[in-house]
Amino acid sequence: MSITVFLDKDGTLLEDVPYNVDPERIRLAPSADRALRILAEHDCDVVVVSNQSGVARGLFRESALEAVREHISSLCAGLHVHLAGFYYCPHLPDGDVPEYAIECDCRKPADGMLRRAAEDLGLSLEDAWMVGDILDDIEAGNHAGCRTVLIDNGNETEWRLPARRWPSVVVRDLESAARVIVGEVEVVPPSHSLAHRVEDGARSVA
Ligand SMILES: [Mg+2]
Ligand SMILES: [Zn+2]
Repeated sequence: MSITVFLDKDGTLLEDVPYNVDPERIRLAPSADRALRILAEHDCDVVVVSNQSGVARGLFRESALEAVREHISSLCAGLHVHLAGFYYCPHLPDGDVPEYAIECDCRKPADGMLRRAAEDLGLSLEDAWMVGDILDDIEAGNHAGCRTVLIDNGNETEWRLPARRWPSVVVRDLESAARVIVGEVEVVPPSHSLAHRVEDGARSVA
């Protein structure tokens, strides 16, 4: 049975270019090409799950995300990875575009995108992994029942770490995440790697 890997887009799969929808400015994150090759060798399916509040903020139209999906799909295909799904949340409660300025169940840290993908693709969330560069990604994955990998690349800055935001594993980059997921590297509980992030009292109980 193939493993499903949910990937956050910006700062995880791709270099983070805020609110970018121009395919020409889309670049894979450092080591993402090696990561995708490893996942391909192990027949993993990749599903992108991305908050795209730029839609609700009026920075670009929802339709602009189709070109983004296509470009990512072709980047993946070039590395023999099947992009099994591309899910995004266009909402933001205090956004500027009324139809998108709503409380929704899909904006991470909620897990609506993962649940929708599980339904659409008929996959088991318990057998899936969620990889992201901030703790909202981890919370979404945990809530859905996935195992979770935090890429500690400097993009998380708040480090609020109640139990629901605690990752299964912490790694430096996407290649390391892939090696953990395919079982090449042992899963080490992240208590040591995160200890320096947790200031006194910052780790509360959910
Ligand atoms: Mg991100
Ligand atoms: Zn949403």
